[in-house]
Amino acid sequence: MISVDEALAQLFALAQPLGTEEVPLREAAGRVLREDAVARRDQPPFAGSAMDGYALIAEEAVVGASFEVIGESAAGHRFDGTVAAGQAVRIFTGAPIPDGATRVVLQEDVTREGDRITLGERLDTGPHIRAAGIDFRAGDRLTAPRLLRPADVALLAAMNAPRLTVSRRPEVAVISTGDELVLPGEDPGPDQIIASNTFGLEALFRAHGATVRLLPLARDSRASLEATFALASGADLVVTIGGASVGDHDLVGRVAADLGMEQSFYKVAMRPGKPLMAGRMGAEMGGAMMIGLPGNPVSAMVCGHVFVAPVLRALQGLPPAPAPLSRAPLLEDLPANGPRAHYMRALLTPEGLRPAGSQDSSLLSLLSEAGALIMRPPEAPAARAGEILPYLPL
Ligand code: AMP
Ligand code: MG
Repeated sequence: MISVDEALAQLFALAQPLGTEEVPLREAAGRVLREDAVARRDQPPFAGSAMDGYALIAEEAVVGASFEVIGESAAGHRFDGTVAAGQAVRIFTGAPIPDGATRVVLQEDVTREGDRITLGERLDTGPHIRAAGIDFRAGDRLTAPRLLRPADVALLAAMNAPRLTVSRRPEVAVISTGDELVLPGEDPGPDQIIASNTFGLEALFRAHGATVRLLPLARDSRASLEATFALASGADLVVTIGGASVGDHDLVGRVAADLGMEQSFYKVAMRPGKPLMAGRMGAEMGGAMMIGLPGNPVSAMVCGHVFVAPVLRALQGLPPAPAPLSRAPLLEDLPANGPRAHYMRALLTPEGLRPAGSQDSSLLSLLSEAGALIMRPPEAPAARAGEILPYLPL
């Protein structure tokens, strides 16, 4: 049995970055930028006003001074002339500062009569001018690799970058195994259950940039598993669910081996999720990476967060890194941990982390309620309420 960190290291060794494609700006959010985006212009492209008011010569801005208003500069419509001594230009936020002017006086600080303004008592120091290029300059870069967030999309738009080079989406083929499984919406027999983690994992993989090929449910027979594996051909990553422990009906490892899978590891020192498997499929399967998840609904989802999500990020060219942890105070004492890393479901409240009473790996209702998995390293000593513990946000 290997540690979570070793398992991740072996997974990252298998997860080589995929190729790239070009997408329009509007489809870039959530994708991984693979080539630097370069600004085509300065932003702002001109010195502009930060406020509504009057543009004039800074040295002349003293209490009681009066000016002739000679024109207007609005966003998108600059004033073409030059501001000379004793003159002011009506100006609005985002409008270009006219030549000659060196500050903006707030409109609240003047009284206007016809074409004249007089500066009142409450004069601030200004200048309320945003210099050209203070946000970024032509040639500045948003560097790759980078997972693009909505704020990045706004920045890329401002940089006038209408198309971006991003990672191609990893294609994940998902194989659920078990004679007992039926699909949601079907009519289950008395001994059957609905395939559930299948759909939770699909949502998780998609949230991490993957496209998902959900294959028909595989039965616990060699023939059915082989036929289903064949349908996974061409995918970048094959994820199996269930059939991975050592029971008589747990055939996934054996069938995958017969299909040429080179196993990297089997079994990880963690709770839940011990019977995790990974490797690379044979040449007929295109050498796809393979991850075998345990069938227990919670184990499968936890392994999805801990292993598959980081793999999907690495496949898209992000630096290999474990799922990012946050930290919060523990609200109840916890006993010392055993030899396996423990991912404990916990309610995440504004005050901190409240561990769930039961940690049974079949209870999806608890996972759905939990906002966090408290991460307890192997042999962690008992933890007291008030201690700050690392957790994986769900
Ligand atoms: P296995 O790893 O095949 O022994 O499965 C362990 C447990 O997880 C069994 O109770 C299965 O019925 C259940 N299970 C396996 N696959 C799924 C699935 N896709 N959705 C929900 N439960 C599953
Ligand atoms: Mg099974």
